[in-house]
Amino acid sequence: MKVKLFIWLAVWKRCWTADRLARRGLPHPVACPTCDQEAEDIRHTLSGCVFARKIWFNALRLIGLQELAPTRREPSFQEWWRRASARAPRDMRKGFNTMVLLVA
Ligand SMILES: [Zn+2]
Repeated sequence: MKVKLFIWLAVWKRCWTADRLARRGLPHPVACPTCDQEAEDIRHTLSGCVFARKIWFNALRLIGLQELAPTRREPSFQEWWRRASARAPRDMRKGFNTMVLLVA
């Protein structure tokens, strides 16, 4: 249930990332606390950050699907997930989607 709630919050951009904190006038980091290279939003945190992309690459390499790891220019986490899931072999798609839920 926690995973489902987190993914729902991420898809609807309801996670308390810097962009959301800024919109509410709350203290927030200027750049991503992990990479210090770009502004932090949920897209960056889950699929755009250099560290996130490394995690995806290494996790997907375990099942031989590292070529589906997100690139730096993904428009959104859910768009990357949708396209990557469609590219995953049919017999591995359910496992791929489970991995995405758990890694995210
Ligand atoms: Zn980052």
